[in-house]
Amino acid sequence: MSSPSRPRVGVLALQGDVPEHAAAVERVLGEGSVVPVLAPADLLRVSALLLPGGESTTLSRLLDEEGLRAPLKERLEGGLPALATCAGLILLARELEPSPGGRDPVTLGLLSVKVRRNDYGRQVESFEAPVDLQGLSGGPFPAAFIRAPRILRVDPGVEVLGHWDGSPVAVRQGNLWGLTFHPELSSDERLHRLFLRSHGLLP
Ligand code: GLN
Repeated sequence: MSSPSRPRVGVLALQGDVPEHAAAVERVLGEGSVVPVLAPADLLRVSALLLPGGESTTLSRLLDEEGLRAPLKERLEGGLPALATCAGLILLARELEPSPGGRDPVTLGLLSVKVRRNDYGRQVESFEAPVDLQGLSGGPFPAAFIRAPRILRVDPGVEVLGHWDGSPVAVRQGNLWGLTFHPELSSDERLHRLFLRSHGLLP
């Protein structure tokens, strides 16, 4: 049952692992707590937003096709808490190392990091690693890396919450959280909880 006072969490639903993020949020906040964000008006109904993994070039194109780029940027600049994973993190990044011979997304340029796409190998080289994360109790997080971007640099104002393989894999800049891995695939909701709790959306 949904109650009017309960926070509603948006999941950018253009492409990628949308159902997995929605399921993780529903396991934490209950059924009816998720709003699929497909149009600008949806952004006004949510208290937080998840930007899922997928394919960042496709996501970037769809943001433009759906007229979502400017309203999304405005909401995020206005302080909407956002948890961006993998391709979502790429979309938020301020700087992208150009892919060799590849087409790259146009990023929103809000999170002060530099990233390189597909730096942890191909799809078949996906792996899970135990990552210690600041603020997360209960032991290391089982982090799934799938054609993940590497964070090459973080600029002042960006807090690093965890490392793997010598690079930051979880960062936070105020309302913007970026993960290079996929917490929604782990059936471990501690990161979703930490994010929601940090922004007062979960007791
Ligand atoms: N490699 C993808 C990209 O660059 C991201 C992969 C993912 O989100 N799992 O967009």
